[in-house]
Amino acid sequence: MRLDKFICKSTALNRAQASECIEAGQISVNGNTVTDVGFQVHETNCITLDGQKLIARPSRYIMLHKPMHTLSSNVDGDYPSLFNCIELDRVEDLHIVGRLDADTTGLVLLTDDGRWSFDIIRPDKKCDKTYRVTLRDPITADNSTEIIARFSQGLQLQNEKALTLPAKLELVTPTEALLTITEGKYHQVKRMFAAIGNRVNGLHREQIGALKLDVAVGQWRHLTVDEVALLA
Ligand code: URA
Repeated sequence: MRLDKFICKSTALNRAQASECIEAGQISVNGNTVTDVGFQVHETNCITLDGQKLIARPSRYIMLHKPMHTLSSNVDGDYPSLFNCIELDRVEDLHIVGRLDADTTGLVLLTDDGRWSFDIIRPDKKCDKTYRVTLRDPITADNSTEIIARFSQGLQLQNEKALTLPAKLELVTPTEALLTITEGKYHQVKRMFAAIGNRVNGLHREQIGALKLDVAVGQWRHLTVDEVALLA
């Protein structure tokens, strides 16, 4: 990771303060003074601040049940940021792994481990995300087989060249479905239903990979070591 990030993870300094002490020559890596804030370091390196060895705090991995009308961003806007749900030290060090729209509820992962989050969202990983979708127009017995097949074969979204990757659609009732997708395009689920002439009236993410949402709305918890490994 970058040296300034390591300093933040191992001290009470923020990014600007970390940069200042790096540029002032207070940091050494394996015995050599380093003044480049972007210098790449590994947690096994011996990194000191004014001669004191620094130890990085362990990374944090959190599941949150995102409430309706909250923003997947670090700052409040038209709605409050979902970060308001989390009372933790240095909450600003966390980032969201796969954003949800303001009117989508459900499972959001947060972490300060960029490698872990990248592994979950990178397209070639094809990590499953399952959404419970409430629809405007019922999918009836007459057309359900054809619609399920269209989701599985790939849909043409507006302004996209390629078809969507195969998706699994399961009907719970005529207006409620579970949709599992492996991509994370902008407004993907809403655009998939728009592509078949329907409309999403409610959207809730229930599962990412093998991890199921199990906290109440607005609540959060740390993931276990096994859960972190499951998604890696
Ligand atoms: N697809 C959408 O359309 N919105 C979301 O919030 C997530 C997936």
